[in-house]
Amino acid sequence: MIPYGKHEISDEDIRSVTDVLKSSNLTQGSYVPAFESAISSYCGVKHAVVTANATSSLHIGCLAIGISSGDLVWTSAITFVASANCALYCGARVDFLDVSLTDYNIDIQKLKKKLEHARKSSDLPKAIIVVHLAGQSCEMAEIRALSKTYGFYIIEDASHAIGARYMNSPVGCCEFSDLTVFSFHPVKIITTGEGGAITTNSSKVAKKLSLLRSHGIVKEKTEFVNSQSGSLHYEQQSLGFNYRMTDLQAALGLSQIKKLDEYVRRRHEIADFYIEEFKNTSFTTPPHSRSCYSSFHLFITLLPSGTSLDKKNEFIDLCRKAGVGLAFHYIPVYLHPYFSNFGHLSGYLKNSEEYYSRAFSVPIFPSMVLSQQEKVSEILKTTFDQVFG
Ligand SMILES: *Cc1c(COP(=O)(O)O)cnc(C)c1O
Repeated sequence: MIPYGKHEISDEDIRSVTDVLKSSNLTQGSYVPAFESAISSYCGVKHAVVTANATSSLHIGCLAIGISSGDLVWTSAITFVASANCALYCGARVDFLDVSLTDYNIDIQKLKKKLEHARKSSDLPKAIIVVHLAGQSCEMAEIRALSKTYGFYIIEDASHAIGARYMNSPVGCCEFSDLTVFSFHPVKIITTGEGGAITTNSSKVAKKLSLLRSHGIVKEKTEFVNSQSGSLHYEQQSLGFNYRMTDLQAALGLSQIKKLDEYVRRRHEIADFYIEEFKNTSFTTPPHSRSCYSSFHLFITLLPSGTSLDKKNEFIDLCRKAGVGLAFHYIPVYLHPYFSNFGHLSGYLKNSEEYYSRAFSVPIFPSMVLSQQEKVSEILKTTFDQVFG
């Protein structure tokens, strides 16, 4: 079956990792800071802190901006559960935002209304975690303007969007946000096996993040609380975690990031092929704008409006049987059994639920060859006629 996504490992990647295996530091060596500099220079941002995965990045990102019990955090209903769980880890409450059916990101008009309503009932969010679904950036300038009016922090969950651009700046530059989080899981744009990163322009936040990543332990003499310390002294000054990335992973990341632009360029070629193929069909292809250059982590396509979830599932299953590994991203988070305990019933967010019954993800990955793309297009069209004809 042609998978919906697939990582790529070169001989150079393997060499980079084996260099670390032969060195004296498997973790806490020089590759982690080197990978962090590569990320910050790519994104044009002051600081990058890498972690064990994006979920841990989201967790300490929330802690670093002071999310704690009693706070309210909003995120998109259409995302991976980790974008919501990070708020719950901090004891905060979470609520969900409806998406637009144009780019499947947070709907700005609905967000405005919800903020106005929240102001009246004195229950404004402390932070909004925006999600650049499929690698297409949200309307960050508008969200930034709203954050100034209503006073919330912005975390970008850019797990899909390293290599993407918003108004010609790299996602991760944090021009319109407090923090940006990336994921390096193998299914994402570049990989470290497991891995995540947080970028920020705030030195204060970056410092908190590095402490939280490593037990809250301080090693710089000038910062010690206890002055009678010897040369091996270290101090735990806050409650942190072990969320570190190893040097093995950082070495892979350092090698992979060199290919980032080429990977995204390949993804655009494949996206352009699909857009052309699906032009006169009933499939709605994703937005494609030059100033908001997507990383095309996913190629999300919609079935016609009015399609039922059952019909969509039938379509997906038949395509999979024919060898085309369609996938789906994502079920509205509040419909998961765990989240339904928080009181949101089916019917809560109209567009998110319509998206759920219409959307599917078409295979896209850098090493995909033309014959595979042609097969995908062919199977999708014939299966559509079979199910909906
Ligand atoms: C993959 C993903 C995450 C979690 O990333 P991990 O590195 O697996 O922890 C979080 N949010 C979104 C939107 C994702 O796609």
